[in-house]
Amino acid sequence: MKMQYHLLPFDFTRIADTEILVNEVGDMMVVPEGTIQRIIDRQMEKDDLYKSLVANFFISEELVPPLLDVYAARLREKKRFMDYFTALHIFVVTLQCNQNCVYCQASSRKEQSEHCTMSNEVMECSVELMFRSPAPVLTMEFQGGEPSLHPKLIRFGIEKAEEKRLSDGREVRYVLCTNCVNLTDEMLDICKQYHVMISTSLDGPAFLHNANRGKTDSYEKVIAGIEKARKALGNEQVSALMTTSVQGLNHPVEIVDEYAKLGFKSLFLRALNPYGLASDNPDWEDYTRKFIDFYKKAFEHILELNKQGVHFAEEFAIIILRKMLTPFSTGFVDLQSPAGIVNSVLVYNYDGYVYASDESRMLAEKGDYAFRLGSVFDRYEDVVYGNKVRDIAEIWANESLAGCSDCALKAYCGADPVRNYSTQGDMYGHRPSSLLCKKNKAIIEYIISLIVERKEEVVPIFKTWLL
Ligand code: SF4
Repeated sequence: MKMQYHLLPFDFTRIADTEILVNEVGDMMVVPEGTIQRIIDRQMEKDDLYKSLVANFFISEELVPPLLDVYAARLREKKRFMDYFTALHIFVVTLQCNQNCVYCQASSRKEQSEHCTMSNEVMECSVELMFRSPAPVLTMEFQGGEPSLHPKLIRFGIEKAEEKRLSDGREVRYVLCTNCVNLTDEMLDICKQYHVMISTSLDGPAFLHNANRGKTDSYEKVIAGIEKARKALGNEQVSALMTTSVQGLNHPVEIVDEYAKLGFKSLFLRALNPYGLASDNPDWEDYTRKFIDFYKKAFEHILELNKQGVHFAEEFAIIILRKMLTPFSTGFVDLQSPAGIVNSVLVYNYDGYVYASDESRMLAEKGDYAFRLGSVFDRYEDVVYGNKVRDIAEIWANESLAGCSDCALKAYCGADPVRNYSTQGDMYGHRPSSLLCKKNKAIIEYIISLIVERKEEVVPIFKTWLL
């Protein structure tokens, strides 16, 4: 006889020869073979599995679950980032740069280039616009090119923000994205005075980092810069990001070891993005396939380090695990639904135009202004609630996108209209042929497979990463 219960919204998939159920808030259940069919056919028995399905909001004995408010509160918490609107404000201070990276995604220009640096007026208006955002904590991030080439402009921007902060009462965090090649005392004084975090870029050991930078001495200078910054500001104020160049794909272990050797506690295994010079990469399909393999090899090595007692984490996995194993949302703009563009990040370009994301302004450098929202001289409302944003908002949630809406991994993934547009020609995108989908899916499934197949070994390690 059929049991009487109601199905609540959930999706399912098969990973590591196991059936996986995921509900709307990202709770995951690994269930015995045939369970999904039995749930749908109302052929469950009143055993522990049945009780778990009820307790975890996969099925309900009543049309409206008695604890629906609890479930709603949990969903609200997962989407908490929407409450605050744009928190990250990127200031593209200049396109000038003193390096020559093979994969440059920021369309940088030579150090002596003219007409590609922000004016004081644009900086001031950008700060005004940033403070119109309702977010209780604002992050003002300086990018380039190489922003440290213009310390006076950065000081000016921070001083304007500090004036506003004092009258406004909100917290403002400052981040300087720099290659650390020429960190002057003047720049470090500013960082010290205003607690500016330094985010630098290091692609691995010397042979790899130098090859990616098109220089022979870049590694040496970056390491010296990191040391200098750590000494002046403290280790915890200096972080580094790596980008996996085509050459880097062959060196997962060396890259991890380099970061561990330098005393970093984590590493973000980041793939190239198809923007800027990086878009000249001839074969993205091949790159994506190799990146997935690279990621797994590097990740296995990171697990080995942890088993040897070295606390070292992988940042992309932390984001997925936080969504999977905790009740909280993450602030990572590339894996959000609704998408991070506008909702979590805005970009003020050196020329006064405002873009939906860092990638949007990189498209603009190639002559494509699809994600230009307005200018820093416009009204805030026209920039963030204008027609362009309204159009993008139609397709920025993976809960409503074909391919994503019934994907079991959507609670851990995100929507990316800019990437869809740049790689597939339209903002909506097509999931079966999307390489971003392929990469995200492969990595999320890999992390789930570790939890399913090697639970005792990996879960204690993952828990230390989430502390
Ligand atoms: S992009 Fe791919 S993996 Fe992510 S939710 Fe959509 S279909 Fe799933």
